[in-house]
Amino acid sequence: MKPFTYVRPADARSAIAAAGASGASFLAGGTTLIDLMRLEVMSPTAVVDLGRLPLAAIERHGDGIRIGAMARNSEVATDALVVERYPLLAQALLAGASPQVRNMATVGGNLLQRTRCPYFRDLAVSCNKRAPGTGCAALEGYTRSHAILGTSGSCIATHPSDMCVALAALDAVVHTRNGGRERAIPIGDFHTLPGEQPEVENVLEQGELITHVELPASPFAAHAHYVKVRDRAAFAFALAAAAVGLDVADGRIRAARIALGGVATKPWRSMEAEQALVGQPPSRASFERAAAAALVEPKPRRDNAFKVGLAKRTIVRALELAWGKS
Ligand code: SF4
Repeated sequence: MKPFTYVRPADARSAIAAAGASGASFLAGGTTLIDLMRLEVMSPTAVVDLGRLPLAAIERHGDGIRIGAMARNSEVATDALVVERYPLLAQALLAGASPQVRNMATVGGNLLQRTRCPYFRDLAVSCNKRAPGTGCAALEGYTRSHAILGTSGSCIATHPSDMCVALAALDAVVHTRNGGRERAIPIGDFHTLPGEQPEVENVLEQGELITHVELPASPFAAHAHYVKVRDRAAFAFALAAAAVGLDVADGRIRAARIALGGVATKPWRSMEAEQALVGQPPSRASFERAAAAALVEPKPRRDNAFKVGLAKRTIVRALELAWGKS
């Protein structure tokens, strides 16, 4: 690990000021940053520990809920309000990592989780995300875990978060502060596609602090489900995941939410799939049409072509479980 300056400010203003310097990084639960610092994949010149900031509350906010950026994943997953009104979020959180990691990981940190592309963590090979402009070893490498949606010629890494997939389906809004400026960023605008700059993964500016995440009232609590397909039952990242919600009245789907994980370069909401369901009866046939609409133009590579069919089946399975068919 390279040397760095460590600061533990007592308030948000001091934290933002300290993290505004080029090369500085916030530290929340540390489950991503510390690993990557040990590998020297990330080498911040200053680490600004957010542990003293009062940003861990989970509370009602109007008809919705407000979750502090420093709330632990395990606390959010078991919060009574979250479990009752946003079971999709609770399920997605419990599908991630291990109990030990969830006890440390925070909501804000989870939003900024870095990819698990193995080449990103291997300093011996080229990676545009780690070292811009050096190339992408994955393009000619082993691509079983890589993305089939949202890729570019510069990067095909998947976004690793389960939580963010549920947030995408639930219309979350990420609230930030930077100096005197506050922003409310819809989750769909928060993460960026790799394009020509895969090192840029979100719209945050240097020193911009995530304060909380807001979820609006959701009509999907009664019919929502998160399905994650992975190589083993715990501590594995998704090969394909689907966060879905259905709002059904008089035998027809009034509204739907479908977001995908494990197959795209950012948490992937499919409006096309959702539109395909509106007005339809909740049935295997309508679910399969929606799944097809979600995967219209995938870009599979040699080792991950199986993800096209797997993602479709994962969507159908999640919709069936959401509707109540086991
Ligand atoms: Fe790096 Fe992205 Fe290529 Fe992986 S896919 S090696 S993260 S540029």
